[in-house]
Amino acid sequence: MSYLSISGVTKQFGETVVVDNFNLDIEKGEFVSFLGPSGCGKTTTLRMVAGFETPTSGKILLDGADITDKAPNQRNVGMIFQSYALFPNMTVAQNIGFGLRVRREPDAVVKQRVEEMISLINLEKHANKYPYQLSGGQQQRVSLARALAIHPQVLLLDEPLSALDAKIRISLRAEIRAIQKKLGITAIFVTHDQEEALSISDRIVVMNAGLMEQVGTPFEIYNFPTTVFVANFVGSLNNAPAEVIEPSRGLISIDGVQFESAVDLNQRRKGDKVRVAIRPERLSFASEQKKANVVDAIIENITFLGSVVRIQVKIGNTKFNMDTFNNPFLELPKIGSTEQVTCSREAVLVLDE
Ligand code: ATP
Repeated sequence: MSYLSISGVTKQFGETVVVDNFNLDIEKGEFVSFLGPSGCGKTTTLRMVAGFETPTSGKILLDGADITDKAPNQRNVGMIFQSYALFPNMTVAQNIGFGLRVRREPDAVVKQRVEEMISLINLEKHANKYPYQLSGGQQQRVSLARALAIHPQVLLLDEPLSALDAKIRISLRAEIRAIQKKLGITAIFVTHDQEEALSISDRIVVMNAGLMEQVGTPFEIYNFPTTVFVANFVGSLNNAPAEVIEPSRGLISIDGVQFESAVDLNQRRKGDKVRVAIRPERLSFASEQKKANVVDAIIENITFLGSVVRIQVKIGNTKFNMDTFNNPFLELPKIGSTEQVTCSREAVLVLDE
């Protein structure tokens, strides 16, 4: 049996369904992200696990115990918020020890645990400072330590990195992941940032308008999106309406230009309208003509993005982005020239329109 089980959970506010039949089993020690655009219901789902909201229907089980209707302080979960939510009148050490003192743990136990947590987040020099004397990243590490101090069964993180600048966000997410792995704690992380979810998670739940769109490892979600929404939301993507030409050969046409796909199209019929998706990094200049999917492309624009060079091309009437890694000897084509571009059959994803 899974460690945390969310089954058939629905949440309505008045007439509005904001989470619709959410089902997820999380294993002990797993790091799961809820990823989706603003308003898709990810925070509400997290708050139901924390006990700040009660499901309209459905059940939440933690280590076999039904916690659906338990108050937050009766379930053993730690939560950290985007806004840090530290007590401004308490020092770092007092903030971290707060939950243990509420539980009336002996002073010696509190002291030892606070020391452990301070060393875990490398803030030994700051133990007696107040939150206003710390940077945003340091404050969020204190709130992580405060959440972990009570030995929670589950750690819930609600967009914990959103208020921080880009560099700190990247280093702190690695730190959070390392600490989570070290402690083997089960964690749910809410974010609307796809790169963050891809980099930190064992599994990602992509949500849209209260519904789960897809659940999978970062690799599966990125490489094998099952819906247009997931394909568009996770990573940058070329997608275009297309028509099935010959299902048995995986042949489709994007506005008259034919591509072969490795996707099994046998359930589809000639003439079916579909949507084709190709990641920019899967397109490249063709070095030989014999392969599948070699097509003419007019070079429309070239943008230097640092490690990647993004080349906008027009294939037939459809614009595509093509990404290539930068190197100092890269020979780029001229704008307006026609070049041959290719992608493998596996790169051509075929999704429902
Ligand atoms: P964000 O990233 O913006 O926080 P989210 O995916 O976490 O978005 P939720 O905060 O779960 O989304 O909100 C889902 C929907 O539920 C939104 O339309 C929101 O307005 C609505 N909602 C959330 N809390 C309440 C409430 N207490 N009463 C009424 N509606 C609510």
